[in-house]
Amino acid sequence: MSMMKNIVTGMIGCMALVFSIGSCGQQKIVKEKGEENLVFPKGEKITSNNFMGTVYLQNLMTADSINPTAVGNVTFEPRARTKWHLHPGGQILLVIDGVGYYQEKGQSKKLLYKGDVIKCPPNVPHWHGASSDKHFVQVAVTNRHLGETVWLEDVTDEVYNK
Ligand code: MN
Repeated sequence: MSMMKNIVTGMIGCMALVFSIGSCGQQKIVKEKGEENLVFPKGEKITSNNFMGTVYLQNLMTADSINPTAVGNVTFEPRARTKWHLHPGGQILLVIDGVGYYQEKGQSKKLLYKGDVIKCPPNVPHWHGASSDKHFVQVAVTNRHLGETVWLEDVTDEVYNK
């Protein structure tokens, strides 16, 4: 009797597992021709003036009430970068290709390579972008539950080159 109960409990457990996998929101992201070797597609060129130089964005996941984090793949051409900015809920950057820079206000610029992970603390002004001769690809995980990104001043060539 108890063995039968275990089998039934096991079956219900399996059904619950299948259901939860089936209900995950999976987005099909299509790569263009020539993008086969990229982890994610390059996406569209960003036209916002919060970025300096040529930058592309592919949204991977939008924030919702359960996971209030936006996930995007951002590709910076050499010397392209964000303006100074801050995230009220912080941000995590996963470097997936190229060579880039990350700098927090009052700190020196950090060099970033493929495989590096950066945690931008909430409300700390910073910028990120490509190195002067290599492109830079990051997956940005931005927590939006405490508010939207606040954009600040340009990253001047003097600051960028330092
Ligand atoms: Mn940031």
